[in-house]
Amino acid sequence: MSVCWNCGAEIDWVCKPDGGYIPVDLEPVFVIEGDGQDKFYAEEEGELTGRVAEPGEIQTLEQKINTPVAFVPHWRTCRKGR
Ligand SMILES: [Zn+2]
Repeated sequence: MSVCWNCGAEIDWVCKPDGGYIPVDLEPVFVIEGDGQDKFYAEEEGELTGRVAEPGEIQTLEQKINTPVAFVPHWRTCRKGR
């Protein structure tokens, strides 16, 4: 675990499929693939494109199994970004 030099938040690092690492937030999220343009990163699936599931959107066990979980790149949530 490390800390963002910019905002001080705790971050983690995920391997990119094409090499290198990207900083991500600690908590993974459910990703609705194919609905949205945001990028997410998972250890196994690599890069996913979609959007974060809304609270309550993933409820059944089947949904939890079938919905990929991935990490949000920290640059999207960094409090001192932009
Ligand atoms: Zn930050």
